[in-house]
Amino acid sequence: MDKNNWHPQTKAVRMRSTQTQHMEHSAPMYLTSSFTFEDADTMRGAFTEENDANIYSRYSNPTVDEFVAKVCALEGAEAGFAMASGMAAVFASLIAPLKAGDHLLCCSSVFGSTFTIVTKYFPRYGIEYTMVPANDKEAWEKAVKPNTKMMYLETPTNPQLEIIDLEWAGQFAKKHNIILNVDNCFVTPLLQQPMAYGAHLVVHSATKWMDGQGRVLGGVVVGNKDLIREIYLFCRNTGPAMSAFNAWILSKSLETLDVRLQRHCENAIKIAQVLEKNDKVAWVKYPFLPSHPQYDIAIKQMQAGGGILCFEIKGGIEKGVNFLDALELLSLTSNLGDSRSIASHPASTTHSKLTEAERLAVGITPGLIRISAGLEHADDIIADIMQALDKA
Ligand SMILES: *Cc1c(COP(=O)(O)O)cnc(C)c1O
Repeated sequence: MDKNNWHPQTKAVRMRSTQTQHMEHSAPMYLTSSFTFEDADTMRGAFTEENDANIYSRYSNPTVDEFVAKVCALEGAEAGFAMASGMAAVFASLIAPLKAGDHLLCCSSVFGSTFTIVTKYFPRYGIEYTMVPANDKEAWEKAVKPNTKMMYLETPTNPQLEIIDLEWAGQFAKKHNIILNVDNCFVTPLLQQPMAYGAHLVVHSATKWMDGQGRVLGGVVVGNKDLIREIYLFCRNTGPAMSAFNAWILSKSLETLDVRLQRHCENAIKIAQVLEKNDKVAWVKYPFLPSHPQYDIAIKQMQAGGGILCFEIKGGIEKGVNFLDALELLSLTSNLGDSRSIASHPASTTHSKLTEAERLAVGITPGLIRISAGLEHADDIIADIMQALDKA
């Protein structure tokens, strides 16, 4: 039996760090800051560039490596590196390959902190950027410059759930000889594999669906060996390493990711379908609803629609606030990808300090509600949303 041919679901359950002399069934957690050597010569050898022996847990750790190996297998990537948070992974995936004088093409609807890194910090270090609307192919084409080195995008986007055609993106990157870097956090490698379309790097906030229970922060970047090597060397020296404890939690979480996602996706589409029929709702967006503007692309590149949906409550900010206040089961929190269902109303919370025009520019309409479907019974989630809509 060739383990390489196992289905991703099997790999997520069965891949593990080497068994110790105790023959334990599940992998132990290696809570150690450093590793020892038999003698001076072995130690000297460990410090040569090509050697991948464990030296110090800022560089590598067997528990962290087990988590990374699983994500690599799921994404179809050669190598990877795990970090303390999704943002550490996003930052490293950008800063290690880019240098002063390079130009980055970035989708304008990216995660808030990613937007800040690119627009506020990169200019200080001489890295140029152009923000491009997700699905304006002409704008992407026009924005390419001789010094463009990378394109960066998320699909589905947050919070409008726009779908970017990964096949197009892969061809675009190839044609212009640039690195395609995709944040695949919203759907996980079990539902979408950007590397199959030519992505060179894939980043994740493991905090979301991978952990899936709102317990730990984590991030991971996987991709082509040479790029990961640069990222690894950057991280080895700058220190955003993932803790062995978090890696242990996340590696364990990957074992249940497939069954959890099935329920998340089932719940999300049920909620979306019910909301679509409700006259207090102006529109609903979910990648696997035929009414979604990029439905054809979604069903082409995603194996399911994911756990996030959004809708526009009629009556704008005021109704949005009332809706959140009336919820009894759903949590009000800015996180997503949790076993507990979550509702957020960006216009009155996370984005309340922006002007209305600024909000609209990033796709945040006044009554936009984002739902992260949890693992509760669908009927209970729907009942709560319905009663809150009635009270709003
Ligand atoms: C949450 C999130 C991040 C950042 O991850 P953290 O683990 O919070 O640092 C990056 N990208 C996307 C799409 C996210 O949802």
